[in-house]
Amino acid sequence: MILRIPGDAMVVLVGPSGSGKSTFAARHFATTQILSSDELRAIVADDANDQTATNAAFELLHTALAMRLARRKLTVVDATSVDGWARERLLAVARRLGRPAAAIVFNLPLATCLERNAARADRRLPSAAIRGQFDRMRGSLDGLAAEGFDQIAVLSTAGEVDGIVVELLPD
Ligand code: GDP
Ligand code: MG
Repeated sequence: MILRIPGDAMVVLVGPSGSGKSTFAARHFATTQILSSDELRAIVADDANDQTATNAAFELLHTALAMRLARRKLTVVDATSVDGWARERLLAVARRLGRPAAAIVFNLPLATCLERNAARADRRLPSAAIRGQFDRMRGSLDGLAAEGFDQIAVLSTAGEVDGIVVELLPD
C-alpha cells in the first residue's frame, strides 16, 4: 500500500504500546520529523516511563507540533493517541494552522502487541495497560472518519505494516 501524504501534514500514529509505532516512524521518517511522547517524558524527567511527566511532555509536544506546522514541516506524532480527546487536541492544532491531518492506525492483533511488549528490553508495560489501550484503539475505529482527519490508513496485519511505502507529496 502506498501512503501519499502532503509534505506539510500532521501524521498521527494511533495504536497501543507494542503495536510498532516508533519502529514504523523511524523507518519512514527523519528523526526531526517525529515528536515522541516517550522521548519528551525523558526530556523533562530523564525517564520515558515517568507518568508524572505526561502533562509536561504533551505540553511540549503540542507546542513543538504547532511550531513545526507553522513552518509547513511534516510532523509525525508518536504517542498512543487511542483516545478521541487526545486526537481532538492534535487536530485542533493542525486545524488552527490550516494543515492537513493523516491518521495511521496500528490495528494489529492484541496478541502481537502483548508478545512484543513481553519481548522488549525497554519500557515494558503491564499487560492490562496494553489491553486497555488496545480496546480504546478498537473502539476508535468506527468514529475516526468523522473526527476530521483528511486521510486515514488502518493497518491490520504485520505484513501490511511491512509493505507500506510512504510518498510525500509537494505541498
Ligand atoms: P510502539 O510501542 O507502538 O512504539 O512499538 P515499537 O515500535 O517500540 O515496537 C515494540 C516492539 O516490537 C519493539 O521491540 C520492536 O522491535 C518490535 N516491533 C516493532 N515493529 C515490528 C515488526 O514489524 N515486526 C516485528 N517482528 N517486531 C516489531
Ligand atoms: Mg513507541
